[in-house]
Amino acid sequence: MGGLMLSKLRAALGWVSRRRGRHTAAFVDEEPDTLAPCTVYVVGEDGHRWFAAFDCPCGCGETIKLSLIPGDRPGWRLRDHWDGTASLAPSVWRKVGCKSHFWLRKGKVEWC
Ligand SMILES: [Zn+2]
Repeated sequence: MGGLMLSKLRAALGWVSRRRGRHTAAFVDEEPDTLAPCTVYVVGEDGHRWFAAFDCPCGCGETIKLSLIPGDRPGWRLRDHWDGTASLAPSVWRKVGCKSHFWLRKGKVEWC
């Protein structure tokens, strides 16, 4: 019962965060065919995080995929916060396409 309440609260907080234009983390075991806006999909299984997938925040329509496997190079660390938002470190720098360079901090895109 307590777990259900907590997940409902987290879902509500995530909704509020996305309304405010913040990126929230969604934990899935398979990458969905279509990615919802302002959602960072964390793909993994059994407590392991393999990669993060989300729409490029510049609006170019490309999907950004980042390895979350420890020791991978390049590799990123993802933190999910109490309000459902996500942070990524280090910054994301696309070497192809739109060449976007930004930080994701507590769900907020900070352009470099
Ligand atoms: Zn882009």
